Amino acid sequence: MELDGAKERAVISRALQSAFYKEKLKSHAMASIQELPFTSKSELGGLDKKETITSTSRKSLHYHESSGSSGQESYAWYTRDDIIANAKSILSRGINLEQSDYVLIRFPFSLSLPAYFIQEAVYQAGATLIPASSRNTIATYPKVLSLLDELEITVFAGLPRELELLAETAKMTNANFAKIKRNMKLLVISGELVTEKRKQYIEQLWETPVQVMYGMTELGNIATTCEFGYLHFDANDFYVEVFDFELQEQKTFGEKGIAVISSLYQEGSTKLRFVTNDIVSIHDQCSCGATNVIDVHGRMSERINVDGNVYDSADIQSLIYGMRQVPFAWKLECTDEKFMFYLQYEDMNGIDEQEIISYLKKQFPSSVQVDVHFDKLLFDTNTLTETTVSMKPKYIEKIEGKLAQAT
Ligand SMILES: [Zn+2]
Repeated sequence: MELDGAKERAVISRALQSAFYKEKLKSHAMASIQELPFTSKSELGGLDKKETITSTSRKSLHYHESSGSSGQESYAWYTRDDIIANAKSILSRGINLEQSDYVLIRFPFSLSLPAYFIQEAVYQAGATLIPASSRNTIATYPKVLSLLDELEITVFAGLPRELELLAETAKMTNANFAKIKRNMKLLVISGELVTEKRKQYIEQLWETPVQVMYGMTELGNIATTCEFGYLHFDANDFYVEVFDFELQEQKTFGEKGIAVISSLYQEGSTKLRFVTNDIVSIHDQCSCGATNVIDVHGRMSERINVDGNVYDSADIQSLIYGMRQVPFAWKLECTDEKFMFYLQYEDMNGIDEQEIISYLKKQFPSSVQVDVHFDKLLFDTNTLTETTVSMKPKYIEKIEGKLAQAT
């Protein structure tokens, strides 16, 4: 990937507006991006967060953060223009929102980022917004199902797991899931790893096409799927490098490695050579005609190495969602020589345990002991039908009957 020299200098000088990069790049100023030191997650974690702000104008700023599966907090700053640009880029690919669309956003609105990108995309498309944030006690699962039904929602945007949980809630309640699916024309998912197998599973569950967005708090939305289901990034927005795990050697097209990404337009808190800890591979061709395909294989921390065989979380997820009977919830615990799969089905009737066990054993070398457990409660489905909503305080209450007599 070639970088335009003038643009590169502009990006570096923007980064130098922050106290963090001013100090970090003291002896590197105006070098090319490839010569700059890496920026790591742990390095950012030890800073006064405001030191990473690279916007010098008086533009309004958003602060966002998330705690990934690694438990390490991620954070970043976005200007209003950053939010607008991210939304534009999302709309420029497979995510076509129309004025007639009713878009329900189930991404959390609290601190996290994607809800705000989709909200802006809805504004740009002139569509209708239904903010139904997840992880709160106002928009419960039954409430969201009733909104999907009553308001005839056409586009859903949220974590993929939310779609699995909503489908499960629909089974447990008298929701009109058939009508909900009939109205739905697009599911936009992000925030978790989504392999082709999981995408297909969700598409079947909802009888609706899925589009995936790949991004992270520090960099915004990096890539969006095209009509062929491949994630594309715009080389004008991101400079993507792929390195080996020691961050010494650069990988070539098609080879797996750690994604090191520089944001080329982000105003709020530009990142230079940010080590994402995600394992990716880059491809330069796609049937859609566009270049810059990024294939995401999972987090480095979740990579498993057994007897010289390497499994990324995408491999494990693909084999779970490739099962004839996909479990409602699953977990893999592993040591160097033992894999323990915990699978939860809502009903064990009709589940062929032996078929599942032999399918999973076949996926790994015989030196690895594969245990499969069906009895562990991984997710309490009773929580899905809870309808206790968080209420505003009530200061004055009128009570029927005569109060005076009682006192
Ligand atoms: Zn494509």
